[in-house]
Formats: sequence, C-alpha cells, structure tokens
Amino acid sequence: RLPILAVVGRPNVGKSTLVNRIIGRREAVVQDVPGVTRDRVFYDADWNGRSFQLVDTGGWDPDAKGLGGSIAAQAEIAVGLADAVLFVVDATVGITDSDEAVVRILRRSDKPVLLAANKVDDLRQEGEAASLWQLGLGEPYPVSGLHGRGSGDLLDAILAAL
Ligand code: GDP
Ligand code: MG
Repeated sequence: RLPILAVVGRPNVGKSTLVNRIIGRREAVVQDVPGVTRDRVFYDADWNGRSFQLVDTGGWDPDAKGLGGSIAAQAEIAVGLADAVLFVVDATVGITDSDEAVVRILRRSDKPVLLAANKVDDLRQEGEAASLWQLGLGEPYPVSGLHGRGSGDLLDAILAAL
C-alpha cells in the first residue's frame, strides 16, 4: 500500500487548502466557516516521482466532546492509521488550547510529525512561524496553502519522513 500522511489541526487553519495544494487539484472542500464536513477524505498525491496518500481529518468532524475533544480524537485516529502526520497551525493566530491538546498526542506518538505554519503568505509573517519551535515538534515549515509559498520545502520534508 502507499504510505499515508494524515493532516490534522483545528478547523479553519487551512488543512483542506493545503491538501489541495499538495494534490494539485481542488477536491478538498475549503470553507470560511469552521467544522465543515465532507464525504471523501483520502487523496492520492505525488511528489518527485513518489506516490503517497493524504487523509484530510477535517472531514471526520465527530463533534461529540466539543471542539477541542473532537480534534484530539481525530488526532488519535490519524496517528493510528498514518505513517506520518502533518500538523497544521495557523501562524497568524498562534497556538490555541485545541492545538495544545493535539500537540500532547503527537508528542506521545512514535510517528514522524511535520509541523506546517500555515498562512505565512509573505516574508513578514515568517517570524510568527519561527516561534512555533517552542512546541517541541521540530522545525516549523512556513507555508501558504493559498499561494503555494514554501510548499516545495514542506513536501521534501514530508517525503523524507514517509
Ligand atoms: P480547514 O478547516 O483547516 O480545512 O481550513 P480551510 O482550508 O477550509 O481554510 C479555512 C480558511 O482559511 C479559508 O477561508 C481559506 O481560504 C483560508 N486559508 C487557507 N490557507 C490560507 C493561507 O495560506 N493564507 C491565507 N491568507 N488564508 C488561508
Ligand atoms: Mg477542511
């Protein structure tokens, strides 16, 4: 089977936008309102001649234990099924309580974790991305899912981890 990358993070950080950027198509549904659900969550992707599968966990949206609880539950499932995890943070907002809950799960896991500091649309925002080193998840990759900025470096790191 193809290696699986799970994309986790709270609603509205830009997971689906980043997934579309990586797969090179507009299939993941991007929404301005948090918590949008969708049927399909598995996508095929290629980078530098290697194939892998992406799982956009935003589509699960169990919403059972409130927002923070459901995101944490998604992260648990994602860590279980994936070969590597892409944790997406909104660099323009910084770390929230729901992000922290996910971080605890990811730190416990033995799967490789890539940290994407999304919405870094230009150079001025890179400082905010650098502050995410404090999460203890390794190097934060500044990216703009919307414009594609930094996505090549992130993909190189993803393939090295898968
Ligand atoms: P998700 O809930 O994590 O899947 O987030 P979405 O991909 O649906 O995006 C939520 C909102 O953030 C949408 O309005 C996107 O257009 C916006 N967004 C996503 N990525 C970026 C980015 O890199 N830069 C900016 N400025 N906005 C973004
Ligand atoms: Mg989404």
